[in-house]
Amino acid sequence: MKCKRCSAVAQVALPSHHTAFCPECFFLFFSRQVEKAIHKQSMFRFDERILVALSGGKDSLALALQLQMLGYTVSGLHIDLGIGDSSRQARELTEKFCRQFSIELHVLETTRYGLAIPRVKARVKRPICSVCGQIKRYYFNWFALENGYDVLATGHNQDDETARLMANVLSWDKDHLRDQHPVLTAENGFVRKVKPLYLLSEYETAAFCVLKKISYGFTPCPYSQGASFTFYKELLAQLEKKQPGRKRSFYGKFLKDGRKYFAQAQAENPLGRCQQCGMPTSLEYCPVCRLRQQLCSGDSKHHS
Ligand code: SF4
Ligand SMILES: [Zn+2]
Ligand SMILES: [Zn+2]
Repeated sequence: MKCKRCSAVAQVALPSHHTAFCPECFFLFFSRQVEKAIHKQSMFRFDERILVALSGGKDSLALALQLQMLGYTVSGLHIDLGIGDSSRQARELTEKFCRQFSIELHVLETTRYGLAIPRVKARVKRPICSVCGQIKRYYFNWFALENGYDVLATGHNQDDETARLMANVLSWDKDHLRDQHPVLTAENGFVRKVKPLYLLSEYETAAFCVLKKISYGFTPCPYSQGASFTFYKELLAQLEKKQPGRKRSFYGKFLKDGRKYFAQAQAENPLGRCQQCGMPTSLEYCPVCRLRQQLCSGDSKHHS
């Protein structure tokens, strides 16, 4: 197979784009998709400070490197969740990556706030992934605001976004449909959030990492069964097989035509500020302060 652009030997086939590329032309394609996303959605400018949420997975690492290669000012924040080997390996990979590509890295350990995930899981009845997601969102936002970053960038790709859309549509979740967009502007105590990989697939970010020799595989989180919309991704992959291009158009048309109907809807619970930490919440205390209170009272019951 030949590269569609330069006729050298192709190494990356992209059936959904009806094309194949050699490594050099694939990198060009990849960076153009990221630039297109940034400009089309007015995500950020060159004079702004960008914090990249670095999990140690392929998407976030590819995102940080690509933004740096485009000349943006990026720093990474890794949240160490305290989940045994999985967290240790994810942190090591992230640290190694940042050393290799000279990207500034901050590490925040949830253990320091009494929120190591295994401890939380042992005390809380709700599904751990939803609690863990709240903790991560809280600290990414908090850290970005505390340290004066203009924007928080995450590595969500098109497959993540399409699976999330499917889940939100199946439950007609108005609030989540309203908030599903590659850019969420800064408001009500939230930093601006952007997803510059929203035009690229999971396969494409993996190919980018493999060709750039970035190591990204670590022991999966032991609580990961059923996480990250895996089931919806499988359903969408089947649909894509029968109807190529369907996945992209489902998401693309939502952004172009569908979302505006939800964007007008007012949030059912208006946001105020947490009485303890000042972060946004619709209740008296934000989810993380409530969680910490719950864990503390559990501890005192334990010791009494
Ligand atoms: S799988 Fe669930 S518990 Fe584990 S890191 Fe991801 S969100 Fe957190
Ligand atoms: Zn080529
Ligand atoms: Zn709070």
